[in-house]
Amino acid sequence: MHGAAELQAAREQLVSYSARLADDGLAVGAAGNMSVRLGDQVAITPSGVRYDEMKPADVCLVGLDGAELEAPETPSSELPMHLAIYAATRAGAVVHTHSPEVIALSASRAELPAIHYAIATLGGPVRVAGYTRFGSAGLAEAAVAAIDGRRAAILQNHGAICYGATLTEGYENALLLEWLARVYRLARSYGEPRILSAAELDEVSAEARRRRYGERRHQ
Ligand SMILES: [Zn+2]
Repeated sequence: MHGAAELQAAREQLVSYSARLADDGLAVGAAGNMSVRLGDQVAITPSGVRYDEMKPADVCLVGLDGAELEAPETPSSELPMHLAIYAATRAGAVVHTHSPEVIALSASRAELPAIHYAIATLGGPVRVAGYTRFGSAGLAEAAVAAIDGRRAAILQNHGAICYGATLTEGYENALLLEWLARVYRLARSYGEPRILSAAELDEVSAEARRRRYGERRHQ
């Protein structure tokens, strides 16, 4: 369960990260959406509200089964996909983008290969889930299958879905995924790029764990 202060903080964080989507090139207009899990409830951005007009009070609160608890606006049309990710993973927050590099890649590739070792943060090469209509149960199912063992999946001719323990982490993963897709496109302009092997990625993950990357000494 969660307190009122925790819910208010999640509402404010969702609005502030949503406002960054356009500036960071991850979506245009009202596209994309994000959510934060608070115990057995999920705070999710509303459908069709422009990010420059979205207020904390517009954020919707639903149960893990999708039941609307507080819905001043219509919850995001991708609510089923968000809920499916929470059911299948340990996600604390989910970020869905319409970022151009991953969409371009998805039209002709089945996965984003390990062009840079930072892809280990996402769990390895990122799979492309086959095209299914937005907001559909099929899309939620395809996203869950593609994200297995990963923290990101690319949605063909649509965008990406990423998660993290926190909204900050989920959003950083979305930025990293888009950056990796861009690096891969640039690498391909020189010829067929060298791709990191699974053993090389395992070595990166082991070293990151040893160094406890991502953890500050003074919290
Ligand atoms: Zn979408």
